[in-house]
Amino acid sequence: MTYYSLNHNAPKVSFREAVVNGLAPDKGLYFPSEIKRLPTTFFEKIEDLDPVTIAFEAIKQFVGDDIPENDLKEIVREVLSFDFPVKEVEEGIHVLELYHGPTLAFKDVGARFMARCLGYFNKNKETQEKVTVLVATSGDTGGAVANGFYEVGGVEVVILYPSGKVSEIQEKQLTTLGKNISAIEVDGTFDDCQAMVKKAFLDSEFEGKRTLTSANSINVARWLPQMFYYFFAYRKLKSEGKKVVFSVPSGNFGNICAGMMAQKLGLPVHHFVTGTNANKIVPDYLKTGEYLTQPSVATISNAMDVGAPSNFVRIQQIYNNDLEVLRSQLTGYSYSDDETREALQHLYQNHNYIADPHGAIGYLALKEYLKDDKESVGVFLETAHPVKFLDVIPKNIVDEIQLPDVVKSLLPKEKKAEKISTYQELKSWLLTN
Ligand SMILES: *Cc1c(COP(=O)(O)O)cnc(C)c1O
Repeated sequence: MTYYSLNHNAPKVSFREAVVNGLAPDKGLYFPSEIKRLPTTFFEKIEDLDPVTIAFEAIKQFVGDDIPENDLKEIVREVLSFDFPVKEVEEGIHVLELYHGPTLAFKDVGARFMARCLGYFNKNKETQEKVTVLVATSGDTGGAVANGFYEVGGVEVVILYPSGKVSEIQEKQLTTLGKNISAIEVDGTFDDCQAMVKKAFLDSEFEGKRTLTSANSINVARWLPQMFYYFFAYRKLKSEGKKVVFSVPSGNFGNICAGMMAQKLGLPVHHFVTGTNANKIVPDYLKTGEYLTQPSVATISNAMDVGAPSNFVRIQQIYNNDLEVLRSQLTGYSYSDDETREALQHLYQNHNYIADPHGAIGYLALKEYLKDDKESVGVFLETAHPVKFLDVIPKNIVDEIQLPDVVKSLLPKEKKAEKISTYQELKSWLLTN
């Protein structure tokens, strides 16, 4: 399998190079040159297949010869060592809970898959040639990357996060692992962290001293394994004998874009719905036909505070850059923080379900879409555990949230982070540690 750059100005590369490079040299996102549908028999008997087999069959063609099948299957097995339950919340509406991984967010699957691929590619290298994954986080990404790469040989991870701007649980997830994971607490905002990371990638003084790479969501190894969720949910809902609609709360649109790849592989998805917060570039585009990126706005669903969704170019490519085709497959809605809080209350009081603010937006969007579609069964993706957002969930609900075991064992652990405020400090830390 080869990948080309969506900016069309860089050489085609293998899966391995796409993973190692992250972004193409022309700054374009990598996209697979060819997408082969899975045989119809695969979908006819999907309920008889276990999740590891399904995932392996789905990802195989995208990895190609770069990882032998037995090793790839082992990677998939390790990545998927937790559950992806589908629960009925009310008639015709299901939730797909993606938060049962080690850091309680759906990003665990992509981060773990990418970590294991990089680890595999580094395995046979001279051991001195360590790579350093440098990543800025506003919360969920850092924890998933830290955990995914923990103890992966040949890879050091350095995570920058804005001091005082991530939740206590998120901070503990970043700062208590140790070993090959280092946390840098930046006196500044997420944007400051991001700017420092970008500067480091362009800084030639690291040459020969540290090989820097990124683990952000545009990497094909983080993006593609998110396809698995859609296969798993379809497998559970198939017996209802109805068309299936997926509603995905979105920020960078990587998750939903992976669902669209699953559809390309032949997964019978009737329609996609996306819910956003006030950062509503895509819903506006679907309405007006004008794609206007914006500076991001802060909301209570902060993992979706994205004003320039990086994966949207991939979605355009999947639907041949044809707005009418896209509209026939995707409907978008946006919601305010007040509407999100109301949805949290509604779900809790009427359906005894505790959602997080991101999942609540997925629920709202699904309800709105299904008003005009009575034939389908809907599933919304619950992208993080509510315990990660205690500071923004209404108090009466917070009191009912039970701490998962992984959180209980995390809280007493000691935080270790290097405090910095300038790029120069980051640089000297990277050059001396
Ligand atoms: C990252 C994240 C999202 C947004 O996912 P995208 O792939 O960027 O659209 C939604 N919810 C939570 C909890 C997240 O961490």
